[in-house]
Amino acid sequence: MVRFLFSAGAIALLVVACNSNEKPTATGGGAQALNADSLARNIEVLASDSFLGRKPFTEGETKTVAFLTAKYAAAGLEPGNNGSYIQEVPMVSITTMAGPEMKVSSPNGDFSLKGLEDYVIWTDRTEARQTLEASDLVFAGYGVVAPEYNWNDYAGLDVKGKVVLVRVNDPGFHSRDASLFKGDTMTYYGRWTYKFEEAGRQGARGCLIIHDVAGASYPFTVVQNNWNGTRLRLDNRGKQEALCEVIGWVSTPAAKRLLEAAGKDTSLLATSDKKGFRGESLGLKLSAGIDVSTEYRKSTNVIGKITGSKKPDEVIIYTAHWDHLGVGKPDETGDSIYNGALDNASGTAGLLEIARAFKSADTPPERTIVFLAVTAEEQGLWGSAYYAQNPVFPVSRTLADINMDGLTWFGKTKDIIVIGRGQNELEDYLRQAAEKAGRTIAFEAKPQAGFYYRSDHFNFAKVGVPAIFTASGKDVIGGKPGEGLAAEETYNEKHYHRPSDEYSPASWKLDGAIADLALFYEMGKMLDSAAKFPAWKTGSEFKAIRDKQ
Ligand SMILES: [Zn+2]
Repeated sequence: MVRFLFSAGAIALLVVACNSNEKPTATGGGAQALNADSLARNIEVLASDSFLGRKPFTEGETKTVAFLTAKYAAAGLEPGNNGSYIQEVPMVSITTMAGPEMKVSSPNGDFSLKGLEDYVIWTDRTEARQTLEASDLVFAGYGVVAPEYNWNDYAGLDVKGKVVLVRVNDPGFHSRDASLFKGDTMTYYGRWTYKFEEAGRQGARGCLIIHDVAGASYPFTVVQNNWNGTRLRLDNRGKQEALCEVIGWVSTPAAKRLLEAAGKDTSLLATSDKKGFRGESLGLKLSAGIDVSTEYRKSTNVIGKITGSKKPDEVIIYTAHWDHLGVGKPDETGDSIYNGALDNASGTAGLLEIARAFKSADTPPERTIVFLAVTAEEQGLWGSAYYAQNPVFPVSRTLADINMDGLTWFGKTKDIIVIGRGQNELEDYLRQAAEKAGRTIAFEAKPQAGFYYRSDHFNFAKVGVPAIFTASGKDVIGGKPGEGLAAEETYNEKHYHRPSDEYSPASWKLDGAIADLALFYEMGKMLDSAAKFPAWKTGSEFKAIRDKQ
């Protein structure tokens, strides 16, 4: 979902196969079997134009799934889902059409906010019409219930059937108080998805998040791109889900108008930075409506395994999302295929390398190693969410998820970056593996952006499985300091989620990816022989879930 790539001088419209021998050239087993040529070949195929950007439900999916199942079989992986390589993921695409305005009535008169300009709303519900009908607006601080921080923004507040107005991010970020939550580092409580989930659990009818650039880490235009679109969700028919009718964002100026209409000003917001904050009704009533249409469809996770020789019921999972954005708006060169070479043909090809490493090792693993290529990450991490909620192997016996979303394409680095510092002991496993390889671990530069919650490992965290996600190192061996970081920025600016995220044999140096894969493989081996399961660290919002298991 979030990563880096390189700057291709020219945009290669068609990737030509540069190497046709099928057999990996490495001779040894285990880590020796990790091979840059075979990694490159698999990236090249997955990111080729004929795979059409690997969008779920398209011919691109059919080709990708056929390719992966064939590769899994060729690598000698057993089918991972009760005799099948396939785990079907039932989903629903929800198209929303919000009305052009939101009516606000206040004791001092009525006015309207303008859709798109002032707010962006949608729904996760599937019924044909969702509304706010003169619904009371309540300011609920950050909309957070966090027992481990002894924090409850909903304490003493009745929000049933009402609309909650909440702030983005968490108290640690906006208060600049390092002792609150994790200070600058965003916790899951800071993510917009959490706000909507919690408001639903509280019985609120609506939830509106006040946008601010610093807190969200992106401008309001990013929110506006979601105006009246189509979103995927899991098909949860028959399951109980507490969902708001209307969810969305209001812009900073619109929030100011709402507060002023309530006879307040923006100083009210800061009161929610303090422990013991109490939310309050704003005395405003909101009305808005959304028309909803739905289409039910199935996509596919691809799952293979190596059954453990001694503890087959205990599982270590490697994940990577195979999907990307498909065919869409052409770029300035007329290219409309979003190849997703780095994002995430690279990680998916990485799974195949690690599978071969385990299969070729002198001794087979004692625990079961699972290779899970998930669907629909780009549209909301849905393939991994489905697996986590419908696991083939019990989550309580799953030691770890090691997730790959974007490998290193610019050569070997001294360091490797951990996303989500201090979450769990997998960080220590990685540190040890790195030290053995003469490398170091480092931490993300922008922990406030919440990248730990933005790729598939997060769904494992949510069900208590320790999960780790890394980014490419900052310092290229033999390069200028920060060269890796610069390469990453170039990718984010020029290629991230654009048709130019393509594989270029001339510019990609995959020895760095192989070095990182060697660390992931080494971690897997360490976990395979570990005396005890890795744990979440104190202060992690996922620790309590694991402790209950
Ligand atoms: Zn992406």
